[in-house]
Amino acid sequence: MKPTINIRPATLEDAPFLAITIMEALDHPVYDESQRTDESNEILPKALKVCQSEDTMYTWKHGWIAEIDGKTVGALVAYDGTDYAERRQVTFPMFGDASEDFLEMDLETGPGEFYLDSMFVIPEYRRQGIGTALLKKGIEHATRLGIPKVTLAVDPHKPDNERLYRSVGLRTTGTFFIFGEDYHRMELATTQPMRIDILTVLPEMVEPFIHTSILARAQKRNLVEIHVHNLRDYTTDKHKRVDDYPYGGCAGMVMQCQPIDACISALMAEREYDEIIFTSPDGEQFNQPMANELSMKKNLIILCGHFKGIDWRIREHLITKEVSIGDYVLTGGELAAAVMTDAIVRIIPGSIGDEQSALSDSFQDNLLAPPVYTRPADYKGWKVPEVLLSGNEKLIRNWEMEQAVKRTKELRPDLLK
Ligand code: SAH
Repeated sequence: MKPTINIRPATLEDAPFLAITIMEALDHPVYDESQRTDESNEILPKALKVCQSEDTMYTWKHGWIAEIDGKTVGALVAYDGTDYAERRQVTFPMFGDASEDFLEMDLETGPGEFYLDSMFVIPEYRRQGIGTALLKKGIEHATRLGIPKVTLAVDPHKPDNERLYRSVGLRTTGTFFIFGEDYHRMELATTQPMRIDILTVLPEMVEPFIHTSILARAQKRNLVEIHVHNLRDYTTDKHKRVDDYPYGGCAGMVMQCQPIDACISALMAEREYDEIIFTSPDGEQFNQPMANELSMKKNLIILCGHFKGIDWRIREHLITKEVSIGDYVLTGGELAAAVMTDAIVRIIPGSIGDEQSALSDSFQDNLLAPPVYTRPADYKGWKVPEVLLSGNEKLIRNWEMEQAVKRTKELRPDLLK
């Protein structure tokens, strides 16, 4: 049976264990007394003072203790980064000599961040989920305090640690220079992901798409939640019908009010929606500015029409925005919903590895994208423009801009107006 792990806030009595935690995290093995060196024996009492104090960054007040059967088996030191700079000024001098070098280091954290500083689990209790439980506690605490981001630094020589942090949702976003090395910086947003609800009579058309590529990744990264609802699940008709003949006797079938109303009402009872969108060839034309705007919303419903369309009364009473993806008629709104969802989600920061890449796409600055090339530089005598091989950053950026303007003038002069 898995042991029950209890995580509790530290008290002053936990300071000795917290001192060990920060020493271990700084690569001074001291938990195992036989491994202590003269140096670590000299630092440990200082570390203890630091943990007993209330205004250092390593204060016991920033500690969380993991216990199994009442025994302390691990700890996490984590805190709001707002007053980090001040606390660091107090903390480092307490360590004496080496502290001056430390004060030159990059600031590890700051306002708007909850910083996971140090974590330690005693060796015989590793691989039992204690680290994960401590990290989750830290993330939960940050979320409760309303701090938008959880961050940490990980030694690039410790890929196992990085993997553990990834497993609770942290992502590597860059590096910073501390303790004489480039540490990886990892972070996690504590704010709620965006939510898109797609309403359709053909979920099988949408499902595979939302579980592929960037959309799959954005959901895994907790940037967006996409839910697909089968309107047939909401009909009160015993034959599961969702459509009926149109009044007036013209050809085709029309989607009925009841299932759509029931589904939208159920969703609206759960949360507020920024827009309830209906995909329709007579709607406002979808484009990049609309995608940008929608990507900043919290909750969206996208209703897919089918057959001859939906009962007009739904459009009058429930829909807040009607969107067309182009001047042609599709069989259903599913492809339109997929197109919109893709364009909206890929520009949520973090969806695409290199954010720059989404920003340099066509249309983002009302310009078409410049041509792109990859290796080899000469393929069957077809050559890559010389300037791209020059290594001169400035010349390359100028060339790209020239090309973008030239292509836009030729192909889409309307964008330049
Ligand atoms: N009779 C309707 C078309 C029905 S097509 C008309 O002429 O307007 C069936 C459904 O496909 C529509 O209700 C809509 O949800 C979707 N659809 C078709 N073409 C679309 C487009 N260009 N953009 C967005 N949705 C579209």
